[in-house]
Amino acid sequence: MIYDHILVRYGELTLKGANRKMFVNKLRANVKRALMPLQGYKVKANRDRMYIELYEGADIDEMCRRLEKVFGIYSISPVLKIEKTVEAVRDIAVKFARDYESDDTFKIDVKRSDKNFSYDTYQLQKDIGGAVLNATDHLTVDVHHPDHTIKVEVRLDAIYVYDKVISGSGGLPVGTGGKTLLMLSGGIDSPVAGIEVMRRGVTVEAIHFHSPPFTSEKAKDKVIELTRIMSTHVGPIKLHIVPFTNLQKQINKEVHERYTMTSTRRMMMRVADKLVHEIGAHAIVNGENLGQVASQTLKSMYAINRVTSTPVLRPLLTLDKEDIVKKSKDIGTFDVSIQPFEDCCTIFTPKNPVTEPDIEKVEKFESVYDFEPLVQEAFEQIETLTITPDYQSDKDSETQALADNLF
Ligand code: ATP
Ligand code: MG
Repeated sequence: MIYDHILVRYGELTLKGANRKMFVNKLRANVKRALMPLQGYKVKANRDRMYIELYEGADIDEMCRRLEKVFGIYSISPVLKIEKTVEAVRDIAVKFARDYESDDTFKIDVKRSDKNFSYDTYQLQKDIGGAVLNATDHLTVDVHHPDHTIKVEVRLDAIYVYDKVISGSGGLPVGTGGKTLLMLSGGIDSPVAGIEVMRRGVTVEAIHFHSPPFTSEKAKDKVIELTRIMSTHVGPIKLHIVPFTNLQKQINKEVHERYTMTSTRRMMMRVADKLVHEIGAHAIVNGENLGQVASQTLKSMYAINRVTSTPVLRPLLTLDKEDIVKKSKDIGTFDVSIQPFEDCCTIFTPKNPVTEPDIEKVEKFESVYDFEPLVQEAFEQIETLTITPDYQSDKDSETQALADNLF
């Protein structure tokens, strides 16, 4: 079937009353960005829905694949926009039906928002259904569980016909909910946590701590690849890479072995907090999950949180691991996350870290040495990359400079 439009439904956006216009504009911009390198289309957004007009050369399957990932879209349908005559609808419905398998069932579903159209809903359903039955000899009608539903929308401007509804990602358009800083390790959880907040319309920049030469280039490439996969959902993402070796060495020197994990997390938080202020974010996001490992008990979170007054969001806090793994597979990061390159925490993890850190003890260990200059140094030496969906880590700096200009 040759379609001439893609219909985009907004879902939850319809709830947004006065802010609606801003949300629609953001969604339109995000849709344009997602489709950007492709050819042969024009995006038209109105209050209730969006139509993407298709021209010659439009790769409709690729467009649908990209639109499925854009947050704020509830569903999409390739459609035909036709003149407002019954003959035109019959003609198209029959064309759809000729592609169906032998013995399949179908129904015609009419929505008529133009109440002045000369046929009412029931008449149209009957007329079009009859035409399909006459023109094919292998199909039957089933109004309850049809294999195919041919939808006919009679609207003021035209009639739209389609038989496919593809689910979108739901949520809200990215860029409508402020900005956060995602603490991104190479594990399974943090990319999922990032996607969860992006789905609520929040813009994310990522921060990753690495400790060369204890952690390899491969571990860094892994985090870049995770960011790249996330960017296929939302467009370019800034990734801030922090050299953490000096801080980790110092922590290992000054802090009691069982408390190094707690202090490591506190130092990460302190660097992250400086960046939060620099980039104008209003929260830190991490992939913590209650009880999963030593650093993720309530008492541990309390000790880590004490170094900042910035809200720390933990979207995965109460999920079961299987649910996180499923989400990770759905967003496409799982296979990369399970590659065996250690991040800085794994390498310096003590054999027997304290699971219920005592805040007074942590503060005492950290008071024997002034960590602030090292925290500041790590912050100042941050390397920032802009990761696009087609980013390759070995590409030349000119291409990177071009990507940076997108901001
Ligand atoms: P993940 O799968 O995200 O690594 P995890 O279950 O392995 O999580 P931890 O390793 O204890 O848990 O890390 C908890 C959270 O701390 C991570 O989800 C991430 O947000 C943050 N984090 C850990 N290591 C780093 C790192 N090297 N750089 C940035 N953030 C990190
Ligand atoms: Mg981890």
